[in-house]
Amino acid sequence: MNLLIMGLPGAGKGTQAAKIVEEFGVAHISTGDMFRAAMANQTEMGRLAKLFIDKGELVPDEVTNGIVKERLAESDIAEKGFLLDGYPRTIEQAHALDETLKALDIKLDGVINIEVNPESLVERLSGRFICRSCGSTYHKVFNPTKVEGTCDVCGGHEFFQREDDKPETVKRRLDVNIAQGEPIIAHYRELGLVSDIQGNQDIDDVFADVKKAIAAIK
Ligand code: ADP
Ligand code: ADP
Ligand code: ZN
Repeated sequence: MNLLIMGLPGAGKGTQAAKIVEEFGVAHISTGDMFRAAMANQTEMGRLAKLFIDKGELVPDEVTNGIVKERLAESDIAEKGFLLDGYPRTIEQAHALDETLKALDIKLDGVINIEVNPESLVERLSGRFICRSCGSTYHKVFNPTKVEGTCDVCGGHEFFQREDDKPETVKRRLDVNIAQGEPIIAHYRELGLVSDIQGNQDIDDVFADVKKAIAAIK
């Protein structure tokens, strides 16, 4: 099964993606995670991406399209299927993805669109923190670790906040993503692929709706 998960920054894509991957065994492809790994490893691509990410701007399409294309061509994708998270983010990327999938003879099965009230996003992003060793995402208020200071998933004790989750950058990210997002959803709606999910619910209730939507796709 080959899926996209879409939604504004903070909508809960990464949180739901982790659950979808666990339940359905598809490969999680997050362009944000790929860029953060490249930045941490200080690769040439990582240094380039950082120039845009730190300002809340999008990384140029040709760079982003290239890394997704490479990843989708790897052999595990045909076996397991994929969940693309944070891509496409521009209509040009959506068209590039159409081409890439066609070339690889892969069919997109569905698009999970998490809709949230934009007012809740700043609060979500400003409270987000991430496990340094396994990348699991938490929230200070809405989704804390079960034991304070210990990751539920890997037992790690070190956490960090994303550089781009500070309020100045968050505002720019929301503006950029709102402006770019609408035509992409419209593109997939035309193809009849979109399932809209109400994202302003508890994480487990959102996931229950996501599972229902995926069951309807299969
Ligand atoms: P969030 O989870 O908050 O939606 P991501 O982790 O997906 O954010 O992305 C973080 C940043 O990485 C984005 O603000 C952008 O700069 C860059 N990025 C991620 N995906 C893309 C993409 N598809 N196209 C361009 N830039 C991207
Ligand atoms: P995205 O990948 O779309 O940017 P995340 O999954 O990283 O979003 O979620 C953003 C923040 O909001 C995280 O701190 C996460 O723990 C929290 N969060 C995710 N889903 C919900 C929800 N349904 N209700 C409240 N907080 C949530
Ligand atoms: Zn962890």
